[in-house]
Amino acid sequence: MTHAIQPKPGVLEIRPYVGGESRIPGARDVVKLSSNENPFGPSEAAKEAIRKAVHQLHRYPSTDHTALRTAIAEVHGLDPARIICGNGSDEIITLLCQAYGGPGTEVIHTEHGFGMYRISALAAGAAPIEVHEQERKVDVDAILDAVNFRTRLVFIANPGNPTGTMIGQNEVGRLAADLPEHVMLVLDGAYAEFVDGYDGGAKLVDERENVFMTRTFSKIYGLGGLRIGWGYGPAHAIDALNRVRGPFNLSELQMAAAEAALKDEDYVDRCRAENTRMRAWLAKGLNDLGVPSDTSFANFVLARFESVEEADACEAHLRSEGLLVRKTAGYKLANCLRITVGDEASCRRVIHAMTAFKDRDG
Ligand SMILES: *Cc1c(COP(=O)(O)O)cnc(C)c1O
Repeated sequence: MTHAIQPKPGVLEIRPYVGGESRIPGARDVVKLSSNENPFGPSEAAKEAIRKAVHQLHRYPSTDHTALRTAIAEVHGLDPARIICGNGSDEIITLLCQAYGGPGTEVIHTEHGFGMYRISALAAGAAPIEVHEQERKVDVDAILDAVNFRTRLVFIANPGNPTGTMIGQNEVGRLAADLPEHVMLVLDGAYAEFVDGYDGGAKLVDERENVFMTRTFSKIYGLGGLRIGWGYGPAHAIDALNRVRGPFNLSELQMAAAEAALKDEDYVDRCRAENTRMRAWLAKGLNDLGVPSDTSFANFVLARFESVEEADACEAHLRSEGLLVRKTAGYKLANCLRITVGDEASCRRVIHAMTAFKDRDG
C-alpha cells in the first residue's frame, strides 16, 4: 500500500543491513565466526578505562574528541586536526555520503564491496554504482571507466570484505591520481591493522587532496559492541564532515575505551600475530579438504565451494555443530562462506566439522 507521506527517492530501495548471526536456538557452545570480531575481546586496559569513565556519565561528552584524536595522531603519526571520530566507521561512511552525495550524484562501490556503501549512498539520495571486480579483487581500470561527471565518491575496502584480498599501493596510487578532481577516493581500512606495517593509506591521504581513509575499533581492537571509528582526510573534507556530524556523536565511554585500546600496542601486536598464525592454519586446513580461498589479508577466510548448494549445505552442517559463519550470497558470492579466524580451539572445530562434512559428501 502506498501512503501519501513518502520518504525521499532512494530510501525504499534500501535493503536493511543484516548482521552476522549470533545465536542458534537450543544450542550450547556456539562459536560466532560470522562478524569478523576479535575472538580475544578488547584489551584489559580498554575495559578498565570504561569502568573509570562510568563515574562521569552525567556529563555531556567532548564535542571535538580532542583526547582521542590526539592519541590516534600519536600512535599513527598523523595530523590530529585532520582526524574525525564517529560512531563506528559506519558513521564516517554516512557522513561522507551526506556531505558529498545527493540527488543527481553517483557513488561507486565494487561488486563484492561492503554493504554499507550502497545503503549510505541511497540514504543520502545518491545513486550507488556497482563496478565489477576481477576474480574477487578490486579492478582499478573498471572503476575509472565507471567515473563520470556525476561521480562524487569511490569506496574501496583494502583489504576487502568479504573477499580478504588487497590491491597494492601502486594500484591505489594510480586510482587516486587518475580520478577527476571532483571525485573523492575513500579507502576503508577496517582491516588495515591485520596487515603488518600497512598504514591503511594514510600516506596517500597526506600527499593528496582527494583521498580519505576510514578506520575502526570494531575489528582488531575487539570493540565492535561499543561503536567507534574514525576518518583521516584532507582539511577541506574534515571541515565538511564536521559540519554534518552531530556534536555529541561519541560518548565518553566510547572515547575512553578507544584511547586505552589504542595505547595498548602490545595487545594489538599479539592479536595480529595470532590472527596471522591461525589464518594460515585455517586456510591450509580448508585447502587440504578441497576448499580453496584467496590469500586473505584480514581476520577471515573466504572459503570457496564448487557450487551454491555445497556452500549452503556446508553452512547448515557447521551450524548443526554450533559454528556460525557468514553466508555471502548478498555479496554476489553465493558459492562462498566467510569464516572469521577465531581462537585456536574454534579454528580446530571448524576444520573438524568440515572434515566430517566432506566425508559425508563422499
Ligand atoms: C567491519 C567493517 C567496518 C566497520 O564498521 P564499524 O561501523 O566501524 O563497526 C567498516 N568497513 C568494512 C569493510 C568492514 O568490514
